[in-house]
Amino acid sequence: MSIIERDKKYVANTYARFPVEIVSGEGSYLYSPDGKKYIDMGSGIGVTAFGFNDEQWKSAVVSQINKVQHTSNLYYTEPCARLAELLCEKTGMKKVFFANSGAEANECAIKVARKYAADKKGNEYSTIVTLKNSFHGRTLTTLAATGQDKFHELFQPLTSGFVHATANDIDSVKSAVKENKVCAIMIECVQGEGGVIALDKEFVLGVKKICDEQDILLVIDEVQTGNGRTGKLYAYMNYGVEPDVVTTAKGLGGGLPIGACLMNAKTENVLGFGDHGSTYGGNPVCAAGAVSVIERLTDEFLAEVNEKSQYVFNTLSGKKGIESVSGMGLMVGIKTTRPAKDVVAECIDKGVLCLTAKDKVRLLPALNIPMEVLKDAIEVIIDAASK
Ligand SMILES: *Cc1c(COP(=O)(O)O)cnc(C)c1O
Repeated sequence: MSIIERDKKYVANTYARFPVEIVSGEGSYLYSPDGKKYIDMGSGIGVTAFGFNDEQWKSAVVSQINKVQHTSNLYYTEPCARLAELLCEKTGMKKVFFANSGAEANECAIKVARKYAADKKGNEYSTIVTLKNSFHGRTLTTLAATGQDKFHELFQPLTSGFVHATANDIDSVKSAVKENKVCAIMIECVQGEGGVIALDKEFVLGVKKICDEQDILLVIDEVQTGNGRTGKLYAYMNYGVEPDVVTTAKGLGGGLPIGACLMNAKTENVLGFGDHGSTYGGNPVCAAGAVSVIERLTDEFLAEVNEKSQYVFNTLSGKKGIESVSGMGLMVGIKTTRPAKDVVAECIDKGVLCLTAKDKVRLLPALNIPMEVLKDAIEVIIDAASK
């Protein structure tokens, strides 16, 4: 049996995989067993921030593997402490809880929000307002947070206490807050899975104002938008708001599983001993990789991300078969006249791997993708969209 046949026979049917097997990668290229070379415009859904076989990331990870690969959270390790310090220094947040994934980082944020309100206002202030079209993860609680009914239908009952307001409609948030006893409002500044849609600045500032006025926590889900993806370290920095809780994962580890929940001066001491935990959370190998990722996201580097972003937006806009281009930084949604899945299939044929989000083609290339490689990929995408 081929790898694809074995996978289809033995791996659970939860993924509609593309008909591509990958054996190795180098920079922004991926290779299949027959030697076919692909330009990777998805980076494992925004994870491999510095591409494949990257010397700096590899050496950070391998040198930690050579020391100690895991200790549990009963002991102290340098990469975990250093990563938390770096994240706090670069954001002004005060403390970090480490998890293994985006969904788990959000679970932590939800626990923080509920305990904060329980301590200050009472247990009944347990409702969290999220947005329609959002995506916050696949656990039963983060599914409840996710404002897309298609994810809910088959898995009832979900965790209760979530209501979904309309993105970019501040009145809808106001009425959700009025009608419920709310502890937090949780948003993605750019909705990723929802179709790569950036929230309006005015809306985000409006949400912040409601939070401040009513002592409600502003939780920003930066699982996909974080770690340089939008051209700033975190997407909220493009909006000039200060969140109370930030969650992130995906690009943070550069390819190894790690999530983080960052808490500010208001929330840093909400969780105490025994309130939360994770066996693998802050694992030293994953944390060492993440330290190397975060250390490289300097202002100079982010300026290059923004230049590449401008190139992508300028080049795609107005081309035949491209109706609109949305997103921020190197998080790009392309509304094509042809169905997105046909464009993606044709790109695969021509050696470019893209993603979709709702009815759009979605691009999340490595942040360090070389300009020439990016140009080659964009040319193929424009050609496929024009057919
Ligand atoms: C991917 C994603 C998640 C879930 O992350 P996992 O690591 O798959 O659990 C949560 N929120 C957003 C915004 C995401 O894009």
